[in-house]
This record gives sequence, C-alpha cells and structure tokens, in this order.
Amino acid sequence: MKKRPRGRRPAAPSCLYQCEQCGTEEQIPADVLVFFDVVDPGDPEAPATFRCQRCPGIMYPAWWFRAQRATP
Ligand SMILES: [Zn+2]
Repeated sequence: MKKRPRGRRPAAPSCLYQCEQCGTEEQIPADVLVFFDVVDPGDPEAPATFRCQRCPGIMYPAWWFRAQRATP
C-alpha cells in the first residue's frame, strides 16, 4: 500500500518569480506572498516583488513579465 502524506493543509500554490536582470527563477510560496503584501503594500496594482539574491535586480512574478509584454 502506498503511504499518502497527510498534510495539515493542502500545499499552498507557489508563484514562479524571475529576476529582471539575471533571470534567476525562484518559486515563492503563496504564504510568503501574502506576508509580503502586508509588509509592503506599495502600489496595489503592482505585484509583491523581491530583491534578487544574486544581483541587485528585482524579482517579479513570471505572469507579470507576460503582462508587461502583452501591453503595447
Ligand atoms: Zn538577479
């Protein structure tokens, strides 16, 4: 029989983030995103961003880049 790990709660959906400068990708758990939204409200239309750990660049969600490209 297979053992099925029973989490206390379903895995939080993570969001793929990408650095605007070096292109480093990182999965950020939704839990952390919520936390950051609270800490740094900033522009309500802008997504929560992170400082890249490898360069001084800013990390944006992958969907944010797609949205930027789609905008004329
Ligand atoms: Zn970077």
